[in-house]
Amino acid sequence: MEKIISEGLRAMGIAATPAQVGAMAAYGALLMKANETTNLTAIRDPAAAARLHFLDSAALLNVADFAGKTVADVGSGGGFPGVPIRILRPDVRLTVIDSVGKKMDFVRDACARLGMGDVQCLWGRAEELSDLRETFDIVTGRAVAELYLLAELCLPLTKVGGLFLAMKKPDCEEEVSQADFAVRALGGRVREVRRYEVPGTDTVHGAVVIEKVKPTPSQYPRRWAQMKKKPLLG
Ligand code: SAM
Repeated sequence: MEKIISEGLRAMGIAATPAQVGAMAAYGALLMKANETTNLTAIRDPAAAARLHFLDSAALLNVADFAGKTVADVGSGGGFPGVPIRILRPDVRLTVIDSVGKKMDFVRDACARLGMGDVQCLWGRAEELSDLRETFDIVTGRAVAELYLLAELCLPLTKVGGLFLAMKKPDCEEEVSQADFAVRALGGRVREVRRYEVPGTDTVHGAVVIEKVKPTPSQYPRRWAQMKKKPLLG
């Protein structure tokens, strides 16, 4: 894993110390081990995990400036993209959020073992975290929900002036235009979709960059069932 991560980061132009590469490989090893007994990720091959979890997550560092930022990773699962970002940018104050407790238990334990006990792991539904409303500079989400739903989970947590970064397939134009009404209703504005290749794979992903331009109206986020029943689709 170390070699793949180190070479991949270099190909992406992302600087990393040997200790940071080692920490990612160690986190990956803990993930692979825990995944034998707990369902944390569908990716069971360490080389694929190195590329599709660690390098894919790190790609966000080429999309936004994370230096010194407060970051929430919504639906983080086994810690992606949040944990690789925190390893590469130790000044990031990271909160990972997931509705499955055992996933948060894993991230908490693995981060503590690697000296990142400051990572806050919240077991809960993102739409129910009203105490954290508009408190994060950057909110990320990968493989959680369709963009019009993910926007209602993430934009209420994003500070005005901050960014919501959604990791999607490269051909996400339709999904992005379908979500435009929701994004605007929630106080956001789509800035761009940044496409990137994951080194060592034929995978191309798109990072949808959404700016938070005004406060989210107080009626949002709604309960999940309501979001599904009455989607913000214009
Ligand atoms: N982001 C990780 C990744 O890319 O590897 C995990 C993706 S996994 C397919 C989606 C995760 O989102 C699951 O762990 C699920 O529990 C979580 N999730 C879905 N809806 C959520 C919500 N409303 N609030 C918090 N977590 C949620």
